[in-house]
Amino acid sequence: MQAIRRLQDPNPRITKPLCVKEKFSCLAGRDALAGRSDRAARGLRCEARSVGVRLLMEWRTPLGFEIGRQPFDECWWLVAGRVSLLPMSSKKRDLGVTPLSEDVSAWYNEIVFKAELADRGPAKGTMVIRPYGYAIWELLQAQLDQRFKDTGHVNAYFPLFIPESYFHREAEHVEGFSPELAVVTHAGGKELDEPLVVRPTSETVIGEMYARWISSYRDLPVLINAWNNVVRWELRPRIFLRTTEFLWQEGHTAHADEAEAMVETLQMLDVYAEFARNVAAIPMIEGEKTPGERFAGAVRTFTIEGMMRDGKALQSGTSHYLGTNFAKAFDITYSDQNNEVQHVHTTSWGMSTRMIGAVILAHGDDQGLVLPPRLAPIQIVIIPIGRDDSGAAATSKAEELAAELRVAGVRVHVDARDASPGFKFNDWELKGVPLRAELGPRDLEAGHVLVAHRVGEYDEKGRAVKEAIPFSEFGGRVPAMLDEYHGYLLARADAYRESNTSTVDEWQAFAEQVDTGFALAFHCGRPQCEGDIKSETSATPRCIPTYGDAAEGVCIRCDKPSDYGKRVVFGRAY
Ligand SMILES: [Zn+2]
Repeated sequence: MQAIRRLQDPNPRITKPLCVKEKFSCLAGRDALAGRSDRAARGLRCEARSVGVRLLMEWRTPLGFEIGRQPFDECWWLVAGRVSLLPMSSKKRDLGVTPLSEDVSAWYNEIVFKAELADRGPAKGTMVIRPYGYAIWELLQAQLDQRFKDTGHVNAYFPLFIPESYFHREAEHVEGFSPELAVVTHAGGKELDEPLVVRPTSETVIGEMYARWISSYRDLPVLINAWNNVVRWELRPRIFLRTTEFLWQEGHTAHADEAEAMVETLQMLDVYAEFARNVAAIPMIEGEKTPGERFAGAVRTFTIEGMMRDGKALQSGTSHYLGTNFAKAFDITYSDQNNEVQHVHTTSWGMSTRMIGAVILAHGDDQGLVLPPRLAPIQIVIIPIGRDDSGAAATSKAEELAAELRVAGVRVHVDARDASPGFKFNDWELKGVPLRAELGPRDLEAGHVLVAHRVGEYDEKGRAVKEAIPFSEFGGRVPAMLDEYHGYLLARADAYRESNTSTVDEWQAFAEQVDTGFALAFHCGRPQCEGDIKSETSATPRCIPTYGDAAEGVCIRCDKPSDYGKRVVFGRAY
């Protein structure tokens, strides 16, 4: 862990020529070369790669090492203790994708296409979710939906078109959403009497229906969720992260009072955080949005924020307490036990296809996607190796083993394509498949399969450690390996976030910290001051953490007394 921390130093500058040994010590935070052969260095490179830092160390020759740091013009080589400036080969030529360690943003834009997750739709800002990407969505949907049902919710469907006048009933709601609305003015060959809005979210139409369905305290609570698509006009679209049309779920509940509605709001925030951690292997910070970042029409907005591989935040799910704002706008009332008419208190909460973007950005590396096993459409790929008869025997055994895994509930694929093993290895690495099993003539003879993790341990030659699993144990061992791999990804993401989060009290330190990660700082709570921070550093208050310690201090920007009673999480965001 010590080594990983040091490697994440945002400015690992080496200012003077050092001998090989010293340089490795400097980069890895320990005397990495002591007593090691050149092969050990390749193992180190893999370690660096696996935490997604902007550092690359490459095994070069049996005599020396190549160490590179991007950008290109700053790359340098080290050969057996001598320093010389030479160009370093770019990974882009190998994979056809900009390495994540060089440019996370470019990597992301390329990998969604290259891994066949999605494509651009013909209308600007729309996306086509391809089968591999949609399979991730289906897995996400199924596991999230189960959690909704476990907490007492039921699914329903509400219409795509909403009368425009509905949006004007809640003043803040219409103000917040107006710039993003798509409005239908003509249909059936003529102009409509009243334009129809293509839903950007369904509070209004659901409010209208709840007013009809709720009349007594006996009708409460109403706990409904809807899986659907929504449209919010995007000027700067980005696949999965911001698209004009996206898929999501929206939960809408109605309660007798504030206390019960707040319990629901926070319960669903916890459901999202638990789901992100246990299914997507992403640790989230749960917290409340500052007033400037609230949902239009909400009294309180809560969020889960994950850290991506470039230290930026991604808001991955939100839960809102709407108070009686929509109940008053749509006249949703009930008679209480004393026969007095009361307004209901409502909540809404959502998670979308953006979560796929979070998975891509939280786990990926230079080799491509890294999918957490519980969301991976293919959890293990078996690659039979060999030609003619031995190839056929390997393929047939692979199919047999795959059938066994399917019975154990594992999503398995046998890659019997007419292509080289090397090509297949790279292809499945790029697609982020968690486990890869190889089965060649020698393995058949030995009666075992060789299984490697997509990321994880590396041997002294810098190759992924392969575990030889006897045929008889394979079906039982793979599910456990997938669980261990989930734990590994989560621990890695946890360590990454921890090492890129700092408590800061000085403006300069704040500005530097938000450049590469999260800063925990005091803030005065004034929107004007939030604006100043954003214009100077591009950072915004991500949330006031739910579980943070109570503390008081002075604002990081303006020195006024802090608000919120605790430190606020600041970061740049997607
Ligand atoms: Zn301030």
